[in-house]
Amino acid sequence: MKKTRLAIIGSGPAGLTASIYASRYQVENIVFGQQRGGTIGLAHAVENYPGFNSISGLELMGLIEKQVVGLGTEIVYDPAVKLAKSETGFRVQLRSGEIREALTLLLATGTRRRKLGVSGEEDFLGRGVSYCTTCDAPFFKEKRVAVIGGGDSAVSGALHAAAFASRVYLIYRGEKLRAEPIWINQALKNHRIEPIYRTNITMITGENIVEAVGLDNAYKGENKLTVDGVFIEIGGQPVNDLASQLGLNLNEAGYIKVDQAMRTSLEGVFAAGDNTDFWPHFQQMVTAQAQGAVAATSVYEYLQQK
Ligand code: NDP
Repeated sequence: MKKTRLAIIGSGPAGLTASIYASRYQVENIVFGQQRGGTIGLAHAVENYPGFNSISGLELMGLIEKQVVGLGTEIVYDPAVKLAKSETGFRVQLRSGEIREALTLLLATGTRRRKLGVSGEEDFLGRGVSYCTTCDAPFFKEKRVAVIGGGDSAVSGALHAAAFASRVYLIYRGEKLRAEPIWINQALKNHRIEPIYRTNITMITGENIVEAVGLDNAYKGENKLTVDGVFIEIGGQPVNDLASQLGLNLNEAGYIKVDQAMRTSLEGVFAAGDNTDFWPHFQQMVTAQAQGAVAATSVYEYLQQK
């Protein structure tokens, strides 16, 4: 069985930054990933990452990945499905069935997209319903789409959708969008984007593909809005399945509880990024990376003491 000193679960900004720091501490490590680039890999434009005026999430993560591999670390796109304590550390079972051993673990599993839970949402997935505006907006050239949400994903997603669709309804349950002001200004100036406030969608309907959404608050006298696509961009929920397997302490929202050194409630297990309770309301690439760097330092210190 292959053994490593540090197994990093998650290949997003937190996991890869932790790997870079660990490698420089000469802590031999391996990264197990599921989705190339993590959630940020889905961003069509990242415009607040120092050093780049504007870059796609995938391109940015590609550069970081290169740096990780250049330092001698292997990134394995075979996600961990089971974690357990072993005599010398931890056992990591991968989706392929392979089992690895690690002295320490770093959970950087991020978040998964939140679902609305309205009727039609599951039925029309891939037939007009999407959780990734960046990925799917190009399929809606000259069509009418709804983007649901009022945060950065929804507003920047609406801007991206407007590059293809003829009409983008930005449907938000609140009164004032709460994305970065720069995105909001651009969206409000865009003649293809029509914000609809204080409104939730109640259902998604159609024959074989999406044809309309129901609204809980009439818009222009109608409780039904004709659209060809629905982008659900209402944030994420922490991916904590593996943390639960280890019995780690989670907060009431499901985020992994960590201390200032990114230690979890179990000795030898560290966590970093959007899945922790460190900055649950400020999930930026740089904040995830900061957590990754601190976590790698803590792993190094922990192994030194051992
Ligand atoms: P957020 O949690 O920031 O926003 C979610 C939005 O969806 C809120 O407006 C919320 O409404 C709304 N919402 C949540 N649940 C529901 C529901 N059940 N029905 C209707 N509306 C709902 O998530 P984001 O994905 O926008 O952002 C996540 C993190 O990623 C943030 O920290 C963000 O800054 C970051 N990000 C950064 C980007 C960049 O810099 N390029 C791009 C995208 C995201 P309400 O406001 O009422 O709570």
